[in-house]
Amino acid sequence: MAVPRLSVVIPMYNEEAVLPLLVSRLRPVLDGLGQTYEVVAVDDGSRDATAAIVTLIRAKWPELRLVRLRRNSGHQAALTAGLHRSHGDYVVTIDADLQDPPETITEMLHLAQSQELDIVYGVRGDRASDTLFKRGTANLYYRLMRRIVGNRMPLGAGDFRLLSRAMVDALRELPEQAPVYRLLVPWLGFPSGQVVYTREKRAAGSSKYPLGKMVNLTVDSIISFTAAPLRLGIWLGVFGALACVVAAAKVLVAYFQGTVVPGWTSLSLVVLFLGACQLICLGLLGEYVGRIYQGVQARPAYFVGEDSLAEAESRARTRQRRPLEEPDEESDPLPHLGNLTVRSLD
Ligand code: UDP
Ligand code: MG
Repeated sequence: MAVPRLSVVIPMYNEEAVLPLLVSRLRPVLDGLGQTYEVVAVDDGSRDATAAIVTLIRAKWPELRLVRLRRNSGHQAALTAGLHRSHGDYVVTIDADLQDPPETITEMLHLAQSQELDIVYGVRGDRASDTLFKRGTANLYYRLMRRIVGNRMPLGAGDFRLLSRAMVDALRELPEQAPVYRLLVPWLGFPSGQVVYTREKRAAGSSKYPLGKMVNLTVDSIISFTAAPLRLGIWLGVFGALACVVAAAKVLVAYFQGTVVPGWTSLSLVVLFLGACQLICLGLLGEYVGRIYQGVQARPAYFVGEDSLAEAESRARTRQRRPLEEPDEESDPLPHLGNLTVRSLD
């Protein structure tokens, strides 16, 4: 297969509602680039018709490729699958819901090529379309992350970005079990630029990032980059010990003065306080030990169930080997999805 100039990786989880809108906006932009491209749609174990719709669209859009993960593995794992299976000299990762305008890709590619950059971040200039809660939590997240990885991480840069092949190869070499690309990309220190864009409203469907997934992403982000929270335990311990010294002095004074120390309240407070400190520290240790355990298990983050390109290549190889044999079932260009047989649109 010839290497395309650009790969566009799109993770999708239950995005059937938005797919036709996405294609109608993305395709003209990519066709207008005047450069070769491929679109890698990563279906992250959707339970709706996402994969079936991509398969239908593929019949009319040969540059579109479908990679299906066997189960829902999460946004970052879907990105990993897409990055690992893309071939382009440049790779753009973009959400399926049109919150990141596809038109910005042209500007990103132009900037990367003209200034020889390895990273072009899409930076959200205006995110008025997001809810107050989303903006608040995102703001907190970015400030915290910048404390961890430093100012190289632009404020408001999500997973809409362009990466060079060198950058993608560098990311692939990292042994991360749960990669968080927003942090890993700036941390590698490759030359970067930015394109500011206005975050639009989700074009259709609802958010696939509930609070639980947001918390998971934040915990992964913190734990994969810093052991500082473990130190919190030491500080809590020091603080607790100082508080106990003060309390002990008071108790001793009361003892020598002969006053009866009621004691119960303060004792309870101390026990509760220290108990809480110990539990917090145990919890923190548990998080790190859990990550070490995952690292030792070294399970892959995703399993690919189907890859339209790999299947096409294997069919081509079979045809080369048996040119005169009758066509068999494998030559059906549209795969069978469970008990749903997909037919062409026309
Ligand atoms: N997504 C995914 N797997 C998941 C959750 C989300 O592939 O488990 C995809 C989703 O289809 C979308 C992108 O990740 O293309 C960002 O998700 P979404 O737009 O729902 O997040 P939000 O913008 O609400 O933070
Ligand atoms: Mg979105």
